Amino acid sequence: MTETDIFVTKQNFLMALKCRTMGWHTRHDTQLQDATLAEIVRREQGQAVHENARSQYSNGVLVDETNAEKALELTAALMGDPSCEVIFEAYVRHGRCVARADILVRVNGKWVVEEVKSSKRLKLDLKEDAAYTVMVMKGFGIAIESSKLRLVNDKYRVGTEDEPLLKPADVTNEVFQIAHEFEQVRQAIENDILSASCPAGEWKYACYKCDYFAQHCVGRGVESPIFQIPRLGEKKFDKLLDLGVTEIEAVPEEFELSERQHGVVEVVKSGQIQVRTGLKEALEGWCGPMHYLDFETVSTCIPVYSGLAPYTQIPTQYSLHVRDWNGNLDHFEYLAEGSRDCRREFVEKLLADVGSKGSIVVYSHFEKTTLTNTQKWFDDLESDIENVKDRLVDMEKLVSKFVYHPGFNGRTSIKVVLPVLVPEMDYSELEISNGDDALAMFYRIAKGQLHPDSVESTRLALMEYCKLDTLAMVRIHDVLIELANENA
Ligand code: SF4
Repeated sequence: MTETDIFVTKQNFLMALKCRTMGWHTRHDTQLQDATLAEIVRREQGQAVHENARSQYSNGVLVDETNAEKALELTAALMGDPSCEVIFEAYVRHGRCVARADILVRVNGKWVVEEVKSSKRLKLDLKEDAAYTVMVMKGFGIAIESSKLRLVNDKYRVGTEDEPLLKPADVTNEVFQIAHEFEQVRQAIENDILSASCPAGEWKYACYKCDYFAQHCVGRGVESPIFQIPRLGEKKFDKLLDLGVTEIEAVPEEFELSERQHGVVEVVKSGQIQVRTGLKEALEGWCGPMHYLDFETVSTCIPVYSGLAPYTQIPTQYSLHVRDWNGNLDHFEYLAEGSRDCRREFVEKLLADVGSKGSIVVYSHFEKTTLTNTQKWFDDLESDIENVKDRLVDMEKLVSKFVYHPGFNGRTSIKVVLPVLVPEMDYSELEISNGDDALAMFYRIAKGQLHPDSVESTRLALMEYCKLDTLAMVRIHDVLIELANENA
């Protein structure tokens, strides 16, 4: 065990505030899945944002020691040196809590603590993040002048100097208050998460999104937890918990639920698919020739092309299957070249490929939102794009309203629905098998970060992935027609 293993980090502490069991798992490195490609790209973007923040200070000194004791010594030496005005990654310790401050700026003999975040909005969790650092700094004996968060500036445009990427927000009063509250629970948290045994987990609403739920905690071995009830809010969750109910099978018949929630509970209990009245009529409202459309986009904190704002969602790719009146399928596709902004090319080819007749089936509202964004960029194409939007029909809405299947586990995403309704098809054989990774791979291509030898194969993998999404819609449509006819 190294010395750092016996300390509590910011991540451990903030997790433990939500749940001591979760905090313990993060401290003890309970194995989760490896980071995905999308997560790696997000981290790289975070690093670029940090570098941008540091570039605002030409006189900053970086504490680049990874050894805890040496980092502590170096930080103390820099703070004791009046000629040192700015410190990056200052390392401090209070009790058994350790922190690295992104930027410390000396002002009037005190320090301004700046934390850098890749977020545009000033949210409570960011203030808590800053408060942890302030708590440890204060405990270490540092006089703090103020606390600031450097957040992403919506007005920033890539390639221009008009506005900075980051803008500071003074959060001193709130952060000092939260830091004071943290100090009251610090020792208890240290004891809990540094203990050898994991604190027992307890069902709570936060379990819903907890990575440890199914494999390492209260959800282990639970086949149908009540979290599978769609849109189960915290109030209803708490009421069920008061009744001692954590599994769908135990939800009382008379418990008040929405129609959809009730339907999901019923199919889980019965194990039988339910097809609601109205599916046939809804499908008959779609008119041929049928089009099946799927978009991929790229969106990063620092966009890949000039003139764009942070996190602009740029359409990069589409797949379109068209089925004529005889059932013949045609496939059209587009994948942006990468090194240049191809938004207009994307839209123009799409307008040509979708023609002017027939419903365009999409899965979720994502394509409609993306098209609305493109209307803002190209005034002259606005009405043509509006015509495409008018033809969109959302297959997921239809599945969610009319088809209840025990295999869906209360969800209706295409990744869940496809292998249940069309068992011979799934995404497991694909090199790129989800939208997040597709985004990350396109980003790699656009930034020239792939070896030239692998660019072509990556482009093919991207096209295969997008093509499967629209082929999946074709097959699901067939199954929906069968189900509608069987239940007419
Ligand atoms: S599953 Fe629930 S109790 Fe367990 S670690 Fe996660 S939030 Fe805590």
